[in-house]
Amino acid sequence: MGKHKNLIIIGGGPAGLAAAVAAHDAGVTDILIIERDERLGGILNQCIHNGFGLHTFKEELTGPEYADRYIERVKELGIPYRLSTIVTDLKEDTVSDGSDENVNPSDGKKTMQGCKKLVTTMNGEEGMVTYSADAVILAMGCRERARGALNIPGTRPAGIYTAGTAQYFVNLEGRMPGREVVILGSGDIGLIMARRMTLEGAHVQLVAELQPYSGGLKRNIVQCLDDFGIPLMLSHTVVKIHGNKRLEGVTIAEVDEKLKPVPGTEKYYPCDTLLLSCGLLPENELSSQLGVELSRVTGGAVVNESLETSVKGVFSCGNVLHVHDLVDYVSEEAAAAGRNAAEYISRLTESGAGKGSETDEEPVQTGRGTVSDAITIVPEGGVRYTVPVTIRPAHMAELTTVRFRVGAIKKDVDVVVYADGRELSRIHKRIMAPGEMEQVILKKDNVLSGGVPAELKITIE
Ligand SMILES: Cc1cc2nc3c(=O)[nH]c(=O)nc-3n(C[C@H](O)[C@H](O)[C@H](O)COP(=O)(O)OP(=O)(O)OC[C@H]3O[C@@H](n4cnc5c(N)ncnc54)[C@H](O)[C@@H]3O)c2cc1C
Repeated sequence: MGKHKNLIIIGGGPAGLAAAVAAHDAGVTDILIIERDERLGGILNQCIHNGFGLHTFKEELTGPEYADRYIERVKELGIPYRLSTIVTDLKEDTVSDGSDENVNPSDGKKTMQGCKKLVTTMNGEEGMVTYSADAVILAMGCRERARGALNIPGTRPAGIYTAGTAQYFVNLEGRMPGREVVILGSGDIGLIMARRMTLEGAHVQLVAELQPYSGGLKRNIVQCLDDFGIPLMLSHTVVKIHGNKRLEGVTIAEVDEKLKPVPGTEKYYPCDTLLLSCGLLPENELSSQLGVELSRVTGGAVVNESLETSVKGVFSCGNVLHVHDLVDYVSEEAAAAGRNAAEYISRLTESGAGKGSETDEEPVQTGRGTVSDAITIVPEGGVRYTVPVTIRPAHMAELTTVRFRVGAIKKDVDVVVYADGRELSRIHKRIMAPGEMEQVILKKDNVLSGGVPAELKITIE
């Protein structure tokens, strides 16, 4: 059994680092960051292009430079971290001291005291170690959807990579995956790799995208495709892989509105490399193991205004919560998770001294004279999801950022927020696209001015 920690952060990417710094700034010093890679910084280590940090630092940095700003801060503050160490197991220790003292006898509910988290790690030096922690921040990032998840028919030759794997080969190992390239999927990593492969001397023939819109940022389409004359073929997909040992070519066809290939539109493209940029999947295996409720839309945890999951004392941020477009928003969100975890730990310490616990919180009086649990945020009118999903009025900050994405391109529309039918805000948008993350900022006074609403609706009109 390892030591007890106030806060364990799983993942040392931009989310984990920003969460650690913010928690430390908020007064929690007993922190441990656990990172399975041999260095901190997460996926940014392989993103050597610039464009990072425009919001956070008001300058254009490369991925490693951006990560370095946070790594330096972690080092300055003396926040401990373990590298080349993977978290293999995450669970709750319901009665950590072996007694029933931490369970409320009236309703059998566990108090905060009784809910220490057990984090099991594995590395080459120490083998398996289990730590206990008062709070945990999930910051494990995401992985790419690989060929197995895409159902492309044909043989299984060498030469088919996810765009991120190719990025790792080219940028970190100095190896070229191939020379004649086709890219399937227009996610940001695919767009970035279209430019990178071209700059490294490969010929990128085209990017084929199944949907009638790109999954990437507009700025990446302009800077990575248009500037290099690489065509983006919307509503097209790969319908056949050719080659046995090595990829020899792909057949691409147009798809109809139901995303089915249109017969007669097939065209053969000879190539030795196919890069896949077809979506990212939050790495939530540990979260599922712990029993964290996950969203069917994002694959990330369902969180409240404090970015706390359905398991008390477990917070989530960054790409493991929902896939972000810009790392600046990852850092902003993760810092909020760090501050909220610190606040949770300080309440826990107080309740440990007999001053009460999360279970005996004051109920909130609503405008309708009833006692509220939490306000539910309902996405409508083409809004696919929101983060957070609920807001507890008693914990609401003066300003709460709600992030979301739309499911299709929208032009000249209003993003409108209603509280039980009362319009709270309306913002006009010239264009909204699924590839870009959107946000609204809720003002506490405004939300609660008519009493506590049961529901907040975020919709597009
Ligand atoms: C391949 C790829 C390329 C990308 N390129 C760009 C780009 O060019 N530009 C851009 O703006 N965004 C890019 N992104 C998006 C980018 O991931 C995010 O902006 C940002 O890095 C997310 O930060 P994060 O900390 O949430 O995740 P990550 O950076 O992925 O960090 C998560 C960390 O958690 C660690 N981890 C996971 N599971 C465990 C475990 N069980 N135990 C211990 N450690 C664990 C991982 O090793 C990793 O270091 C890319 C994403 C991917 C997947």
